[in-house]
Amino acid sequence: MTDRPVRVRFAPSPTGYLHIGGARSALFNWLYARGHGGRFILRIEDTDRKRYIDDSMPDILAGLRWLGLQWDEGPEVGGDHGPYFQSERLPIYTRWADWLVDNGHAYRCYCTEERLAALREQQVANKEQSGYDRHCRYLTTEQRAEREAAGDSYVVRFAIDPIDGSTTFHDAIRGEITVEHSLLQDAVLLKSDGWPTYHLAAVVDDHLMEISHIMRSDEWLPSAPLGVLLYAAFGWEPPVWAHLPVILNPNGKGKMSKRYTLNEDGTSVPVHLRDYIADGYISEAMVNFLANIGWSIDGSREVFTPEEAMAAFSIDGINPSPAAFPYDKLVWLDGVYIRELDDEDLYRRLLPFVARGVGMSEAEMAARPELRPAVPLIKERIKTLADATPMLGFLFVDGPIEYDDPAALIGKKMTATDSIVALDAALAALPEVDPWTHDTIEACLRSLPESTGLKLRSLLTPVRVAVTGSNVSPPLFETLEILGRERTMERLAVARDILRNH
Ligand code: GLU
Ligand code: ZN
Repeated sequence: MTDRPVRVRFAPSPTGYLHIGGARSALFNWLYARGHGGRFILRIEDTDRKRYIDDSMPDILAGLRWLGLQWDEGPEVGGDHGPYFQSERLPIYTRWADWLVDNGHAYRCYCTEERLAALREQQVANKEQSGYDRHCRYLTTEQRAEREAAGDSYVVRFAIDPIDGSTTFHDAIRGEITVEHSLLQDAVLLKSDGWPTYHLAAVVDDHLMEISHIMRSDEWLPSAPLGVLLYAAFGWEPPVWAHLPVILNPNGKGKMSKRYTLNEDGTSVPVHLRDYIADGYISEAMVNFLANIGWSIDGSREVFTPEEAMAAFSIDGINPSPAAFPYDKLVWLDGVYIRELDDEDLYRRLLPFVARGVGMSEAEMAARPELRPAVPLIKERIKTLADATPMLGFLFVDGPIEYDDPAALIGKKMTATDSIVALDAALAALPEVDPWTHDTIEACLRSLPESTGLKLRSLLTPVRVAVTGSNVSPPLFETLEILGRERTMERLAVARDILRNH
C-alpha cells in the first residue's frame, strides 16, 4: 500500500458510447476517491485516431454526469495536471520515449512494414511463436548511424529486460501475479508518426497525473506487466494495481459483449448507458445497481445511497470472480427508487418521456394539466419512466380514441346489449355530477347497478375501455376526474355508437 494522497482515474477511449462495464469502472473509482478524500480524474485516451468516433466523447461525459460521477480534474473542468486529452500531450510522450532510449530501456526500430510482414509469414510457416524478433535491438552503433543518416523512419520499442527473466507484481484484487518475460514482446511505445501507443501514454500520464491506484477493467491485465516494467525503467513509484473482474452476460456465460447481449429469457439487454437512459431508468437506481456488480455493501443489503457506498467501499471488498449481469435486479431496483421519489420529482422526470411517447414537445406537455395529477395514480405500477406512456397516453388524445378491438368494450360474461345499457346509464347520469371530482363520480357510478340490473364490475368495464382504450388502466374514478367531463362524455358516446353498429 502507498500512503500517497488518493488520486484515481477513469480513462476512456472515445471509440464508442459509454459501455455499462465502463460506467461501473468509473463508479468504483469515484466511490474510492470520495470515500478516501481523494480526487477523481477523467482522462481521454484519444490516441487511436482510426477508431475515433466523433460523438462518443460527449456521450461519455453526459453519461458520467447523468450518474452523478462528477470528475475533479479533466475535460471541461481543467486541473493542474493537464492537458487531460492524450492527443494534446504528444511532446510529453516523445520526451519520455527519448529518455528511455537514452537510458538503454528502449530502442529505435527501423524495420519496414515489408520486413515485419515477411517475418510474420516465416513464423507462421515454421509454426514459431509470432512477434517481433528484436532485430533492431542488436544493431551496432554504425548501423544505427547509417539508418539515421538515411532518414529512415522508426518506431520506439521497449527493451524487455532481462529477456529470459520474469516479473512479479501485486494486484490488490487478484493477489500476486508472475509473468515470464518470454511471453512479452518488445512492444512499440511510440509509432513512426510520433503518436504513442497505449502502453507508453497510460504509464507516463498515470505517473505525471500522480495516480495512486489504477483500478481498471480486467481486459487490461495482460498489459499490466509491461506497465510494471515501464514504471521500474523510469524509476517511478508504481501505483496500486487493481483489475476489476469482467461482467458476464446475464446467463453467466461469456464476457458481456461490447455491442449487445441477451437476458436469460432471450430478450435483448442494452450494453450502452445511453440506452438505459432512453429506456427510462433513473440514475439513482443505476448507480445502486452498478455498485452491486462485483461488490457488496455488507454481503446482503441491496439498496443503499451513494454516500453509504462511498463510506463502505474498499478495493479488498471487490469480488475477484466475474459476475453475471443481473439485469432483472435493475428493473426491480428502478421500481424501488421510483416509488421513493416524491410526486413532483417523479413528475419532472416523467415529463420528457411521456411527451416524447405521445409526440409532444416538452413545453406542450408542461402546459397540459393532466400529467401532474396522474403521477400518484401510476407511481406504484411503473418500473421505468418509459412505462408511463402506455398507461397514460389516452389522457393526451383530444378527439376520440381508437379501439383496436371494439369487442373489448364488452366485458366478460356480458353481451353487447349489456354494454350499451351500461354506457347509456353512465351517459345519462354523469352530466348531473357536480363538482366533477373522483368522489362524486364514484358515488354516481356506484348508484347505477340498481337501475340497470348490472353488477358494478360489469358496468365499469365498458366505461373503462371506452375512456382509456384498455381494460387495464389507472384507478378509474381518478382517471375520469383528470380526463374531464367533456372528453369522458364524448368517448362514452362514441363507444356506445360503435357497439350499436357492431
Ligand atoms: N483507454 C482504455 C480504455 O478505453 C483505458 C485503460 C486503462 O484504464 O488503463 O479501456
Ligand atoms: Zn526493427
